[in-house]
Amino acid sequence: MHLRHIQPNATRMKRLLDSVRAHGVRDPLVLEAMARVPRELFVSRSLAAEAYDDRALPIGEQQTISMPTVVARMTEALQLTGKEKVLEIGTGCGYQTAILCRLARRVFSIERRKALSDGAVARLQAMGYTNFAPLVGDGTLGWPSQAPFDAIVVTAAGPKIPTALTDQLAPGGRLVIPVGPQENVQQLVRVVKGMDGQLQQEILGNVVFVPLVGEQGVALKRA
Ligand code: SAH
Repeated sequence: MHLRHIQPNATRMKRLLDSVRAHGVRDPLVLEAMARVPRELFVSRSLAAEAYDDRALPIGEQQTISMPTVVARMTEALQLTGKEKVLEIGTGCGYQTAILCRLARRVFSIERRKALSDGAVARLQAMGYTNFAPLVGDGTLGWPSQAPFDAIVVTAAGPKIPTALTDQLAPGGRLVIPVGPQENVQQLVRVVKGMDGQLQQEILGNVVFVPLVGEQGVALKRA
């Protein structure tokens, strides 16, 4: 696969970015990074015509590629400058991973479904991204051997904020995570760890995400 030179269609990308801006995202670095990631490469061919709509789309295995505005809002809330070591929970198709790779030094991304992780890795490599490391496993436990992280983003919703993740946040670090009941609207929460280790929480708005399934997330239902 040679996806490195594929550029997003300018007209359709402008429409997507206009929608993201209209939803209040202002960070020029985030908008610039999004402008360079062709979203159609992250969905199946049959959905390519809808790839630049500002809404979530199915990616198989009952999971979704997030709504571009939500990806932008979460990325903006991480306040990346290019130097950060970032942890992402919920690689999915790798769309947000690609955007994070453009804005941070190194991205560690955990996905519990191997087929999705494998697909994302193949896609990201073909697009030329080299500053990420994938892991198949339960992201609610974080990635202790790589901690601490300057920024952590969770792209699935759990009932509470996993303490493993706040523990693995560096002083001054930011964690962005949807928290709330499943099959419902959740609240997007940002946790900032002060230089003294104190945690401060703020609510950024409402979002809808697939469940964060894991030890410190939603329990896996057994048949
Ligand atoms: N970041 C993606 C969105 C993926 S959807 C994007 O850019 O569009 C959320 C993903 O989280 C799903 O692929 C799901 O399998 C994964 N997930 C759910 N619980 C998880 C956990 N505990 N650890 C890692 N991944 C998890």
